[in-house]
Amino acid sequence: MTTSPESTMSEEPRKEGGHVIPLAEPHLGGNEWAYLKECVETNWVSSAGSFVDQFEATVGDYLGGRHAVALASGTAALHTALLLAGVGRGDEVLLPTLTFIAPANAVRYTGAHPVFVDCEPETWQMDPALVAEFLEERCRREDGEVINEATGRHVRAILPVHILGHPCDMDPLLDIAEDYDLVVIEDAAESLGAEYKGRKVGTLADIACLSFNGNKTVTAGGGGMVVTDRKSWADRARYLTTQAKHDDVEYIHNEIGYNYRLTNLQAAVGCAQMEELNTHVEAKREIASHYRREIEAMETLDFFEEANWARSTYWLSAIQLTSQGKKSVDRRELQSHMRKENVHVRPLWQPLHKSPAHENSMVLGGAMAQATRNTALCLPSSVGLASRDQETVIEMVGQKTENRN
Ligand SMILES: *Cc1c(COP(=O)(O)O)cnc(C)c1O
Repeated sequence: MTTSPESTMSEEPRKEGGHVIPLAEPHLGGNEWAYLKECVETNWVSSAGSFVDQFEATVGDYLGGRHAVALASGTAALHTALLLAGVGRGDEVLLPTLTFIAPANAVRYTGAHPVFVDCEPETWQMDPALVAEFLEERCRREDGEVINEATGRHVRAILPVHILGHPCDMDPLLDIAEDYDLVVIEDAAESLGAEYKGRKVGTLADIACLSFNGNKTVTAGGGGMVVTDRKSWADRARYLTTQAKHDDVEYIHNEIGYNYRLTNLQAAVGCAQMEELNTHVEAKREIASHYRREIEAMETLDFFEEANWARSTYWLSAIQLTSQGKKSVDRRELQSHMRKENVHVRPLWQPLHKSPAHENSMVLGGAMAQATRNTALCLPSSVGLASRDQETVIEMVGQKTENRN
């Protein structure tokens, strides 16, 4: 295993006591308590119950009447989606290098290999032009299959991840996927509520995966969902994630399954949170516009802005340090300064082609992702973030980047 400074990031010392401004904490301001109470009073707490059905129906309806299967986590949803897409041992899946590690891990759970794709400079999302170039110039077709010339492996699916609340540029990806008969799986874990050219994220491809982890826009404490317009895939997702039980009287299992179902307790919280989804998105967009107003005036910083074809949820507001202007500041320095002051900023992820966990994976480009990783910082973006805390964040960023000598 290689040991780079990237892989040995340590926690900086923190100020004892004092006011903490978290990065993205849950906001439980609706019917969570009432619904949880109902679970306990009715004794429906486990993986069956009316809140599980209601949660699936609510999310499915929200995403244009699709079938939704509630699962234990977003990572479980990604694993299940890949299985539905027929991804298996020795196959390859295209996904961005600049993302949280969960989708790459899910690819590996199936025995397949990730092919990492660099990001676009403007949106930081997976670059569709690199995907097209790879398929057109570095793959061959054999009996309807797509084979990577360099590895001899079958390419099965494309897994775009809408990072930070902003959609990927999906149309070119969907066009290429159609030409090459590849399944497209959207990882919408960070971007429920976002829109691409007026279409909701989560409805754009064959399958979408959601997460209801505590730091996401809406939470169930933990949880995930697979969403698809194919009923047969939804049925199979349900089957695979309940231990592939064929006959539930005689306990006959015809294949290897998983215990990936969500509990009624979690779904109860999820139902209450879905009632607040629009409110949460509006709150995050408000925070973003406050940050944007102030940060636009600072010459060493760019605000992570939505593309003109996108409506971002600004799940996490982010800034990028530029080399323009006379003063420049190191991202790590700004980050550690703010963390010491109990302001929980966070860098983007180590690009996955550099991750020791996914060593020796193929990557298309990668320099843009690394440059973005080096210069971008996510700012506190909790739904309930007080405006005086937003001011504190802006002041701290400004002091470090503008008034240096
Ligand atoms: C959070 C997240 C996931 C995983 O969700 P869990 O519910 O934590 O398993 C997957 N993909 C992305 C991009 C995420 O941010």
